[in-house]
Amino acid sequence: MFPLKYEGDVFRPPSEAKSLILQATIGCSHNRCTFCSMYKRKKFRVRKLAEIEEEIALTSDMLPYTRRIFLADGNALAMPTAELVHVLKKLNSAFPQLERVSLYGNPHDLLEKSSEELKALKDINLGIIYLGIESGSAAVLEAVKKGVTPEQLAEGAAKAKAAGVPLSVTVLNGLAGVEGSAEHARESARLLNIIDPEYLGLLSLMAAPGTTMHRQIKEGLLTPLGPWELLKEIRMMVEGLNLSNCIFRANHASNYLPLKAILSRDQDALLTNLDRIIEQKARGKLKRENMRGF
Ligand code: SF4
Repeated sequence: MFPLKYEGDVFRPPSEAKSLILQATIGCSHNRCTFCSMYKRKKFRVRKLAEIEEEIALTSDMLPYTRRIFLADGNALAMPTAELVHVLKKLNSAFPQLERVSLYGNPHDLLEKSSEELKALKDINLGIIYLGIESGSAAVLEAVKKGVTPEQLAEGAAKAKAAGVPLSVTVLNGLAGVEGSAEHARESARLLNIIDPEYLGLLSLMAAPGTTMHRQIKEGLLTPLGPWELLKEIRMMVEGLNLSNCIFRANHASNYLPLKAILSRDQDALLTNLDRIIEQKARGKLKRENMRGF
């Protein structure tokens, strides 16, 4: 559901398509990743509580039966904990049928908050944190200026796990180009196995004009993966996964082949399906428009 007021473009996870979106923060507090253009025109700030409260009052009058709310923008988890607690409490009392509130967190936010703070947020309806790790490779994270190491990503995620807040983690396929594809797949699977997220989403790189990565591709410094190379990278990554209870999705608009699975049940079938498609392509028997998802 579209918010009443929104500063700039709206970005939200695909699974929050039916959620009410409220901006608690503006922009992204990191805003330096080389592949990302989402919040480049916004200077990060936490919105004033009075403004947020006013919007909560207006939306609860219009949509009193709201069950899900997504707090935008790029990382509402960066809000000071006391302010986030205040907003969550207001939401709980304004929307009596509210089931969960979700938001994007960046790795720094998890490092800065304690497990106790995260538990306190969970207890007042913080139901899911969307966390873009992008890669598990130290070299790739450094190259794309993610600002954290794999060890820091694991440490931040462990705090959320300890607090019992489910994590929806995203990895960006194609991020290391053809040159680093195998390492990106292998190291991402390794880090995901440590994090053991409840949800895993794979997106495919779409380097937006104006970004550093777009320029690097134009200058031949990074070779983008084609659709089949992306599938092979996904296959490599999925093969390396050993997750306890994870819902897997690669069905974002950026993905060439929609995939979804409960990994504990479907991982072998998913790999078999990917092998079938890759093999048919290799034998020239499959065209992209004929690909069926899983
Ligand atoms: S990828 Fe995430 S952390 Fe990086 S600049 Fe974009 S919104 Fe910020």
